[in-house]
Amino acid sequence: MKDVLIIGAGAAGMTAALYALRNGKSVTIVEQNNIGGQIAESPRVENFPTIMQISGTDFADQLFEQITQRGAEFAFAKITRLTKKDGYFEAESEFENFQAKSVIIACGVEHRKLGLKNEENLIGHGISYCALCDGAFYAGEDVVLIGDANTALQYALLLSSYCKSVHVVTMFDKFFGDEVLVKALKNKDNIKVTHNAKLIELVGEEQLEGLVFEKTNGEKMSLKTKALFVAIGQIPNNKTFENLVDLSKDGYIICDENMATKTPGLFVAGDCRVKKVRQLTTACADGAIAATSASSFLQTI
Ligand SMILES: Cc1cc2nc3c(=O)[nH]c(=O)nc-3n(C[C@H](O)[C@H](O)[C@H](O)COP(=O)(O)OP(=O)(O)OC[C@H]3O[C@@H](n4cnc5c(N)ncnc54)[C@H](O)[C@@H]3O)c2cc1C
Repeated sequence: MKDVLIIGAGAAGMTAALYALRNGKSVTIVEQNNIGGQIAESPRVENFPTIMQISGTDFADQLFEQITQRGAEFAFAKITRLTKKDGYFEAESEFENFQAKSVIIACGVEHRKLGLKNEENLIGHGISYCALCDGAFYAGEDVVLIGDANTALQYALLLSSYCKSVHVVTMFDKFFGDEVLVKALKNKDNIKVTHNAKLIELVGEEQLEGLVFEKTNGEKMSLKTKALFVAIGQIPNNKTFENLVDLSKDGYIICDENMATKTPGLFVAGDCRVKKVRQLTTACADGAIAATSASSFLQTI
């Protein structure tokens, strides 16, 4: 049985692994999808202290190498249930169960979906939530992006470097991202911006063919495009753990400043917890605190 089981190999989970390993604890880290989580979708990170610029995938790869070299055991699995009995935790997945004396939940957030008819069918057939992953498929094309914060701005800039044009459509009359990104976007000749318009219809059955928007004045706007990039925020996915943790009304895990949840031995780190700033630095900081708290807990049992 491992000392610490970490659920999620994003920045928070991998930093937690690093700190737990350096405290001499044995660690298994479990990931359902891609190593690095959200940051692996970022084309360029420029706000991590001491690193001038790095791609999200390089950041994730280096952190993964750092923890595996120090002895973290890694498993690809989606944890579907977590229980505690007789003083230890058991995490279940489809093919394998994991036992540990303490657990750190670092399962981040998921992309918010549009909630429009036929959206699920069109994912991978014109609709994408990750420009870094799918943008290159549309090199030379006219693409549309919806969203108004940092992720949307980063995606628009990336897409503009190889797409013919990028039409950014937002529901409000301004952007909510960093000024430096808004300025960069305004300087791009092939980015067009339409504010105050809401996407109401996806056109196309098996492949996206176009979009219909409704402006705040009631006017309709139709755009022909084969590609829509959606960057409208994220939502937590913590229901799996609600038997052992308290959730806020919008679904984030409640913890104290040591990242402890209401269950002894169960900690949380990163974007999946209640907090105001969801960034790489804060995810890493949470991971460090959660692992240190888990190490202290292990001394008490
Ligand atoms: C496109 C984009 C660009 C960004 N750019 C920046 C930037 O430039 N600077 C910055 O500071 N921040 C940036 N961010 C935000 C930053 O990436 C996040 O705040 C941070 O990475 C969160 O890390 P995390 O480990 O908490 O969560 P996540 O990165 O979401 O990782 C959680 C991991 O847990 C896994 N997981 C979830 N549930 C389970 C389960 N049941 N079983 C197993 N695994 C599970 C997920 O698959 C995921 O890999 C960006 C985000 C995006 C999407």
